[in-house]
Amino acid sequence: MIATYEKINLDNNLKIAYNSFSIIGESSMTTIEAPTNCPSCSSVLEDVNFLLYCRNEYCGSKVEKLIQHFATSLKIKGLGPATIAKLELSSLDDVYQINEEEVAKALSSERLAEKLMLELERSTSAPLNVLLPAFSIPLIGKTAAEKLSKVCNDIEEIDYDMCRTAGLGEKSTASLLTWLEDEYPFVSGLPFSFKFEKPKQPSTSLGKVCITGKLVSYKTKAEAHSVLKEHGYEVKTSMTKDVTILVNESGIDTAKTNKARDAGVIIVTNLNELIGE
Ligand SMILES: [Zn+2]
Repeated sequence: MIATYEKINLDNNLKIAYNSFSIIGESSMTTIEAPTNCPSCSSVLEDVNFLLYCRNEYCGSKVEKLIQHFATSLKIKGLGPATIAKLELSSLDDVYQINEEEVAKALSSERLAEKLMLELERSTSAPLNVLLPAFSIPLIGKTAAEKLSKVCNDIEEIDYDMCRTAGLGEKSTASLLTWLEDEYPFVSGLPFSFKFEKPKQPSTSLGKVCITGKLVSYKTKAEAHSVLKEHGYEVKTSMTKDVTILVNESGIDTAKTNKARDAGVIIVTNLNELIGE
């Protein structure tokens, strides 16, 4: 007798992971089938190495998350889920094609419409360093974009060799190249320059950071230190007076944490949030 239990997770990218295990010798048998269709748009899901993907590019849930992530990455205020729904936006193209009149009508507010239009206009000055991570390309975040910005001038220059020269791994490179071929043509008409902003050497440090306790986001402190330095922070190994930010991802109060709290030092619980990853 075999009992099978299958666990179904639905994550933000609408990937459904299911794993199963069997217990031999149980007397009852319960089987939960993995879903075959997308819970949002009912499209047939594709199984790739036990991960289920919704391949419908018009899937409502996917599009909404895509626009939301784009708005957050570009810091476009006033384009949250409710507004996206009210404006019936179904692609990034839609976002930049709406006009103030329509927005005012949909949001029943001329003031909000005016604000949103200004926000959208402002967002178009975003360099590719900010824009690329906004497209929800798997494995392509701010770090990858910054690396690319050091070797490429614009999106046209990105190819396999450039990605590898920039230090991107095989998987990230493959992911980006697939996106450039399949998805970029759909967004290339958006009002952006698609040019990288060359990294400036930070003249003044963003702060002096000290890490306490076990890290969650990085395997080693050394790794975290180099990431912090890359992002313009100075690193301190002990809680000296000039430390301005203490990273404590463990959630356990250490002597350093108490010292920081007493000194009014900012305590950060997520290193990636601090550097904006
Ligand atoms: Zn779907």
